[in-house]
Amino acid sequence: MLPGPITDYPVLMVLIFAIGATVGSFLNVCIFRLPEAESIVAPPSRCGSCGRRLRFLDLIPILSALIFRFRCRYCGHAYSWQYPFVEALTGTLFLASVIVFGPSLEAAVTIVVSCSLIVIFFIDLRYLIIPDGLNAIILVCGLVLDVHLLATHGWRQGAVRFQEVFSGPLGAPPVSVDALTGAIHWVYLPRSVVGILVGAGLFLLISWAAGKIFQREAMGGGDVKLAGAMGAVLGGGYLFFTYALISIVLGAVVGVLLIALRIRSRRGQIPFGPMMAVAGILMLFWKDPIASFVARLYHLP
Ligand SMILES: [Zn+2]
Repeated sequence: MLPGPITDYPVLMVLIFAIGATVGSFLNVCIFRLPEAESIVAPPSRCGSCGRRLRFLDLIPILSALIFRFRCRYCGHAYSWQYPFVEALTGTLFLASVIVFGPSLEAAVTIVVSCSLIVIFFIDLRYLIIPDGLNAIILVCGLVLDVHLLATHGWRQGAVRFQEVFSGPLGAPPVSVDALTGAIHWVYLPRSVVGILVGAGLFLLISWAAGKIFQREAMGGGDVKLAGAMGAVLGGGYLFFTYALISIVLGAVVGVLLIALRIRSRRGQIPFGPMMAVAGILMLFWKDPIASFVARLYHLP
């Protein structure tokens, strides 16, 4: 391990950013090929206009875009700003993860989940779908975090504790209290499992209610699956509810803005996945300050 914080090592920071930017270049490939069900490894990248195979010089993250001024150097076709933007964003997120979490499992999970959320952001924005594979990657990250938590803290400290209050008839004492000894039996469930149930359940409910109110589908099945996956990462407690609240507020603000600026019509479909992706990245990096703010708000311990 390094003696001292990573910010003391500028060369290492540049290297981590460069690795992130290179991964961002791969994310761009995913964004364009996943919805078309094309392979993300082959064929090699080509110019979308002239079809020339792109060489090493054309594929250096961020730098190629700056050197060739966002154009194909063979035919002059202008590329989208999205390529260098995704590369710079991914590089920044890599660096931020390592600075915030140090070299840890949490940093690795934060990187993988934010990369998936970046791809979800752009695919849902353009195609109004969220590929199941991306939700599955996020879900697996949540499970990995949980397995680590249970392995280091043990089942009783790492899992969520429930009292079996709901198993008896209303008004009767909880059956979990042993009538003879007075001992309370607790039910423990892994944090990620509770998160998946709360996440998917809450969004299913919102989707149903919004459908009734607006008389059209306000949220797709992909959004509900993403909510379940984010629940696995954030757990089913107030962190997840804060996440849901941020997504919904973002959705409302952006929706009103898009309609006010006449970018989308009132009847037009506005994808919800991008809001969930932005809220997810915010929660991953500012989980602790956001959590303590919410805890103070509700006077939680
Ligand atoms: Zn070209």
